[in-house]
Amino acid sequence: MTPLRQIILQSQHKRSFSGHHPWILANSIIEPASTPRVGEQVDLINYDSKWIGRGLYNPNSRIRVRLYTWDSEELITNELISRRIDRAIQLRSRLSNGSHRQALRIVFSEADQLSGLVVDKYAEHLVVQLTAAALVPFLDTIVDRLFHHYRPLSISLQIDERTAKSEGMEIEQRFLVGHAPEDSVLIEENDLQWMVDVVGGQKTGYYLDQRENRLAAARWTQPNARVLDICCYVGGFALTIAKHCTTREIIAVDSSDKALQSAQQHAQLNQLENRVTWEQNDFFDALSNRLDASEKFDTIVLDPPRLAGSRDHIQRALSAYHRLNYLAVRMLNPGGTLVTCSCSGRVSRDDFRDMLRGVGTRTRREIQVLEERGAAPDHPSCMSCPETDYLKCIIARIL
Ligand code: SAH
Repeated sequence: MTPLRQIILQSQHKRSFSGHHPWILANSIIEPASTPRVGEQVDLINYDSKWIGRGLYNPNSRIRVRLYTWDSEELITNELISRRIDRAIQLRSRLSNGSHRQALRIVFSEADQLSGLVVDKYAEHLVVQLTAAALVPFLDTIVDRLFHHYRPLSISLQIDERTAKSEGMEIEQRFLVGHAPEDSVLIEENDLQWMVDVVGGQKTGYYLDQRENRLAAARWTQPNARVLDICCYVGGFALTIAKHCTTREIIAVDSSDKALQSAQQHAQLNQLENRVTWEQNDFFDALSNRLDASEKFDTIVLDPPRLAGSRDHIQRALSAYHRLNYLAVRMLNPGGTLVTCSCSGRVSRDDFRDMLRGVGTRTRREIQVLEERGAAPDHPSCMSCPETDYLKCIIARIL
């Protein structure tokens, strides 16, 4: 085989890549004399000439190389990508409940050793989200493999604004198989029906990662509770609690008008229309106005969007989490349930727990942790890439 171009790590990074983390950032390599093209296969070499792994190069991305193999005999071929997809699907087949309306994350990027590829299955429709430009040449193989396994009615491709910017690509939304479903796609989750907009929704249309946390939040909600769901999107937590619990009142808040309209449709679809009050508001305002009015709740769910997009934002994000949780804890009745989430991969579990400890100290309330949860099991995480353990969900009783 023709030798691949070698990308050399800077000497101060000698140890950081022994753990198989797949991202090689621009500032950790010596820039090659001539720039490899987007998607070129390269070998990553330690400063002392030791071979580390093999990846795909992108001169436009801060993640210069994404590693896909640590076996020097293995090339990154269509066959390798196919095998990785098969392995990812093999795991999800164990989670299948037999319903054709089931929704699952089929491929989860680094956690399935397919950095930059996310595939979500919504009933008979698949959404492929690419976050790595270097994977574009593999698209046909990806589609073939997905079609082989599921024979879906459609497979759409999504390249979102953030990826387009960070990877030097065009924003894309097109159908690789079939065409856009005329209506939204109906899926089932936690005995509720959801209509997923696979074209115009947030992310790939729905937040599948919170599936089991929604049910856990319902499990810890006491009878006749007054509930506040902050950042409700299309009503995930609020409607699951409405379905599975008796409640006195549920208020659900989001800043997106579109999300709230969809939430109302979901309430109707599930015959829960009189159970939830939907409010368009900013999360801080919704909380602080209610605290000022001395309102009290029995369950509060906090599920803000990603607050730390990069390492530089971690402190700022932690202050925002502190403020949110501080306001919520102060409004919870003794014995009330706090369901607090963070989907920022850069914020570690330890940092998130420390933040909550700080809130306990400041509010002088004991925070009794009932469950420390993560994303649903179709979103596994890999030890080598801590960012895959991005979703934290602590359920606590506030004494
Ligand atoms: N809890 C939801 C997912 C939440 S995703 C579920 O179970 O599916 C985060 C949500 O926060 C999005 O719906 C987004 O519209 C909303 N959001 C973003 N910024 C916000 C702000 N400043 N105030 C209120 N909501 C916000």
